[in-house]
Amino acid sequence: MRLYESRKKILVTGGAGFLGSHLCDRLIEQGHEVLCLDNLFTGTKRNIEHLLDHPRFEFMRHDVTFPLYVEVDEIYNLACPASPVHYQHDPVATTKTSVHGAINMLGLAKRLRAKIFQASTSEVYGDPQVHPQTEGYWGHVNPIGIRSCYDEGKRCAETLFFDYYRQHGVRIKVARIFNTYGPRMHPNDGRVVSNFIMQALDNKPITIYGDGKQTRSFCYVDDLISGFLSLMETNETVTGPINLGNPCEFTIKQLAEEVIRLTGSSSKLEMLTLPSDDPKQRQPDISIAMKTISWQPNVELEIGLRNTINYFKKHRLQAIQH
Ligand code: NAD
Ligand code: UDP
Repeated sequence: MRLYESRKKILVTGGAGFLGSHLCDRLIEQGHEVLCLDNLFTGTKRNIEHLLDHPRFEFMRHDVTFPLYVEVDEIYNLACPASPVHYQHDPVATTKTSVHGAINMLGLAKRLRAKIFQASTSEVYGDPQVHPQTEGYWGHVNPIGIRSCYDEGKRCAETLFFDYYRQHGVRIKVARIFNTYGPRMHPNDGRVVSNFIMQALDNKPITIYGDGKQTRSFCYVDDLISGFLSLMETNETVTGPINLGNPCEFTIKQLAEEVIRLTGSSSKLEMLTLPSDDPKQRQPDISIAMKTISWQPNVELEIGLRNTINYFKKHRLQAIQH
């Protein structure tokens, strides 16, 4: 049990989402008080229902594009739809969430002198021409494409974080998150791991966009959250940006084959059109994370996929029963 004096009040925006709900779990486990804020656009109360009666947990339905007046010691700013299908559904709202959300949360951090963590993304590198991606790379981003609402919104949020740091001395921690997967991903959110697992479990065609030769590097959620917590613990000279992700890179076709193998599915591969601006390759260089926060992912793809498959199996069963 944590001593009362060392207990912090921590705000997690986007706390009912995939990553946010795991972060809330870990902060509660560590003995802190958690204020979980979410407008439930892509998140769901189901992700946090096991925490709702916990005495140190509070849920607040709120949109980060509006100002917020609460008293906390630390802020993790995760609010933003992350799946291309969802962030492209209302692209103006996506940019507002990243930009107005960052302004509101940074204003709050400034008033409270609170440390603030930003969930940035590998998408700031766009369709990268440097491989693997290092934090020093400025990126190759289309400013007017269908992914721009997310990419440029997140880039502008990073700018705001660094300007609040330089101009107002706000203590910032910026993580550039690479593709992450695990239990509590929304089964219909359109991201590749959830799509492939749901399709494989239903023995439906696995939808590969393009030729499937594009690469990604997938990090299991537990590893990623450990990285968030370690980064937040660093002293104020550490601002980031720091890449957090698993450097183990493979093609989307290889991922499809692995999901079919692990589920024992009879699904076949179906090649569909590649969406525009889809990055051809992505792999984090995590040297800075290894050096600064002694962090590296440990969970192998097969183990992480098995856990995720089991989650989706349970989820499907419950959906059928209700
Ligand atoms: P998610 O969609 O599951 O979670 C996002 C949460 O933010 C949801 O609960 C949603 O309802 C909430 N939200 C959206 N707009 C909001 C608003 N205006 N006000 C309040 N809440 C709002 O996605 P996730 O995968 O958990 O991603 C969390 C964060 O991490 C996002 O900022 C995302 O950009 C970033 N990220 C995730 C990944 C990944 O692979 N999962 C990769 C890079 C960056
Ligand atoms: N993808 C795919 N089939 C799907 C969903 C996605 O082939 O059903 C591809 C997508 O085109 C991209 C990769 O998988 O190249 C990762 O897509 P995701 O939406 O998960 O994340 P992001 O593109 O943001 O990395």
